Amino acid sequence: MSEWKKNDRIETVIEDMSETGEGIGKTDGFTWFIKDTVIGDKVEAKAMKTKKSYGFARLEKILVPSSNRVEPKCPVARQCGGCQLQAMEYKEQLMYKQNKIYNNLTRIGGFTEIPMSPIMGMDEPWRYRNKAQFPWGTDKEGDIITGFYAGRTHSIIGCEDCLLGIEENQEILKIMKAYMECYDLLPYEEESHRGLMRHTLIRKGFKTGELMVCQVINGKSMPHSEKLVEELLKVPGMTSISFNVNRERTNVIMGSQVENLYGPGFITDYIGDVKYQISPMSFYQVNPVQTEKLYGTALEYAGLTGGETVWDLYCGIGTISLFLAQKAKKVYGVELVPQAIEDAKENAKLNGMENVEFFVGKVEEVLPEQFEKNQVHADVIVVDPPRKGCDEVCLETIVKMEPKRVVYVSCDSATLARDLKYLAERGYELSKVSGCDMFPHSGHVESVILMTSCSDKKK
Ligand code: SAH
Repeated sequence: MSEWKKNDRIETVIEDMSETGEGIGKTDGFTWFIKDTVIGDKVEAKAMKTKKSYGFARLEKILVPSSNRVEPKCPVARQCGGCQLQAMEYKEQLMYKQNKIYNNLTRIGGFTEIPMSPIMGMDEPWRYRNKAQFPWGTDKEGDIITGFYAGRTHSIIGCEDCLLGIEENQEILKIMKAYMECYDLLPYEEESHRGLMRHTLIRKGFKTGELMVCQVINGKSMPHSEKLVEELLKVPGMTSISFNVNRERTNVIMGSQVENLYGPGFITDYIGDVKYQISPMSFYQVNPVQTEKLYGTALEYAGLTGGETVWDLYCGIGTISLFLAQKAKKVYGVELVPQAIEDAKENAKLNGMENVEFFVGKVEEVLPEQFEKNQVHADVIVVDPPRKGCDEVCLETIVKMEPKRVVYVSCDSATLARDLKYLAERGYELSKVSGCDMFPHSGHVESVILMTSCSDKKK
């Protein structure tokens, strides 16, 4: 049992970082998770909650700052909770992420030799997000504010210029606020379920410069919308203006109905040479610059020469499928969410790609069925599963299908390592590993891996 009690003072040196970005320090073998610390900091902290072998403590004082500590650029970095690593120098963030992948592959995956390329970082790790959703509320004085929810709560921290978002956010929010004040449109209040204005969704096509604004409302129509449109059109690049109806008592941001106020109802953007139409509800990667690098690497690892049949599992809106289709004979995509497949099909059409086919359903059901009933074949299989990784039936079927190469795109290196171990025990060899920093200043890291069939190598 731990000797530690709530409010005890502790002193420790931060040695590691948790999945969610808390610093990890030890006192006599007892592990502490301390938010707002950086690897290398010597800190004083106050115990908040303790379990048998670990506890959570609150940072009280940095006794000796880490040499990697920098002053966060954002004034609300600590309250906001969106960026866990802002106090760490960017180069050091990249190193931390590189090590995280490496450590998981050795500890969980059991790999000894890791053919790892340097992690793909951003030259300019700010203003990389092409999408933001700002909630509206009122402050203590009753003034309208917008910003971000404080970490794990629903109270709004005023901030109209998140440094991860585009510069135009500020101008658009200013117009929105003036419009609300002019026509007495009240921010939505969760408790009373009153007020009209919920979130403002803003998206930008980085390659095209096109902007989209979609206002979520707790009502049926937008009063004086023509005035709002007139003002928003003053922002260069404004292409699509709409509102979304969400009259539910829910913390899901968007409702199901979108009404168009101006423009074609979507904006256009490119990842590489592939074109995408993005409507307010569609999924689209939020960091297009890094997405291009990540999927470009996946394409390179797939080693396509034009004659291959490729399966893209967990394909979402088909971003990777369409990338692959540029170089493959045929690409099959599988995805659970029907709407995502609708978008994937639209995007294939938009790009005039006829060598792609999509299936709606669970990978672990669709793939075995296609393999056993229709004897489908794969030269290369690409997977990009959610954080929990691949279902075992999916992995089992991949092994049965005997592709020459498996390219694994992952947003969680722990489940990645578990799944790669499965493949490594069944005739696949770890050939290439590359990390990609899709979310600078957060604790997340993406990676792309190539597994090659050993039997294919011998042939
Ligand atoms: N590469 C995709 C993103 C993949 S994210 C893109 O760029 O659009 C992972 C996807 O897996 C999500 O779209 C999710 O809906 C889907 N998914 C989750 N579990 C699944 C399952 N069991 N079978 C099929 N798809 C699944």
